[in-house]
Amino acid sequence: MKYLSTRHSRTDVAAPLGFCDILLEGLAPDGGLYLPAHYPRIDAATLASWRGLAYDELAFELLSLYIDDIPPADLRDITRRTYRAEVFGSTEITPLKPLPQAEGSAPLALLALSNGPTLAFKDMAMQLLGNLFEYELGRRSEAINILGATSGDTGSAAEYAMRGKRGVRVFMLSPRGRLSPFQQAQMFSLQDANIHNLVIDGVFDDCQDIVKAVSNNLTFKRRHRIGAVNSINWARLLAQVVYYFAGYFQATETNEEQVSFAVPSGNFGNICAGHVARMMGLPIARLVLATNENNVLDEFFRTGTYRVRRSAETHETSSPSMDISKASNFERFVFDLLGRSGERTHQLFGIDVEQRGGFSLNAEEFQRLAAFGFASGSSTHADRLATIRSTWQQHGIVIDTHTADGLKVAQAHRDPGVPMLVLETALPAKFAATIVEAIGIEPPRPPALDGIEALPKRFTPLPRDAQAVQAYIERHTQADGDGAVAAFAV
Ligand SMILES: *Cc1c(COP(=O)(O)O)cnc(C)c1O
Repeated sequence: MKYLSTRHSRTDVAAPLGFCDILLEGLAPDGGLYLPAHYPRIDAATLASWRGLAYDELAFELLSLYIDDIPPADLRDITRRTYRAEVFGSTEITPLKPLPQAEGSAPLALLALSNGPTLAFKDMAMQLLGNLFEYELGRRSEAINILGATSGDTGSAAEYAMRGKRGVRVFMLSPRGRLSPFQQAQMFSLQDANIHNLVIDGVFDDCQDIVKAVSNNLTFKRRHRIGAVNSINWARLLAQVVYYFAGYFQATETNEEQVSFAVPSGNFGNICAGHVARMMGLPIARLVLATNENNVLDEFFRTGTYRVRRSAETHETSSPSMDISKASNFERFVFDLLGRSGERTHQLFGIDVEQRGGFSLNAEEFQRLAAFGFASGSSTHADRLATIRSTWQQHGIVIDTHTADGLKVAQAHRDPGVPMLVLETALPAKFAATIVEAIGIEPPRPPALDGIEALPKRFTPLPRDAQAVQAYIERHTQADGDGAVAAFAV
């Protein structure tokens, strides 16, 4: 499989890249995002042969369609080591949790994606990425220093995926005093030498500004091989396609049936994987996009207008991992919507978003949107509380705030006879305060995480200053100085 940029012009189609070329990259040089040259269609015989595979086998079959520059035996070993019951809590890896409905109604269930080490669905992809990075860097005798900023979920998923990996160091910036005690405990209790928690005297935006400043220092970036694992990474998206298939097989008995998925969305990574699954031929009736009060994407699917928000317009909500002002993976879907025109995608994202803060589809493009099977809606803090409460009362199941956004919007888009799977993107233990507000009890916590707040914490406080962060990175990359040189985009 070859890869191209969503903003490609005809000339660079001639020099396409392989999977391992883009694995360690961020944005394409033209500012676009990488996508495969086409989506392989899964025929009926293949779909039938995939039903009944274990999760790690299914992952191998699916990834093999997109990765031809890793020997199959090695890729098989990587998926086997990644998707293990010891890491994800059950042999199904992504089990269904049924929410029993009245007689005659179509089934409704949660697709449990959050039983990995950090209790959010980001582990599903990040754990694979950790193993792919270690493998590819080892093959090249190279090393990478991952620099990131986090307000919680992404940073911890990245650290738990990269801990102890050869050739990888992580420098993760977080704002002092802003993470929940649970999130702090998760990240700061890691004792692995290749994980560096840098606690910045500032807010999340300050952390992001520092990451940007360091990344814009091209000399420094090249010398210290600074890279990223952010949500635009194609390998992360690809890993997420697998669980749409796994969920489909669990919810159906034959491949003639259809299923809908509801997806709590922020940067459009998770639901974009559903779009890819649908393009591959998985029988998906609807992809229901759920947002919180930050409804940039809901607005787009209703009106055809994409309007990026200013940071002052971004709401701080009780489903904080969906608090976005623009959606970093959205360009991938729009590229497909536009018939894969690199020129038109460049116009909309490279020019209109940059200069005017958004764009509107023309009438013909907006009409085309209907064929892609999306529905959308948004929810509020009051909706989350009500949904968490009713799910607890009716089913005895505690759901997290993001999953509650998904479930609330899913209810409005059910079709007779079509099962609806709501993606469970985090466990409630991560967002205990809102759970207590909704139902008056502390959410259950996996036993392995009992008392983690009391573990010794390992972090370095630093001032709000890019120089100080660079000096820290310099000290800690020279100590065990591996000399390989490579440049990575952030
Ligand atoms: C990251 C995250 C989301 C949003 O996922 P996207 O891929 O950015 O759309 C939703 N819920 C939780 C809990 C998350 O951590």
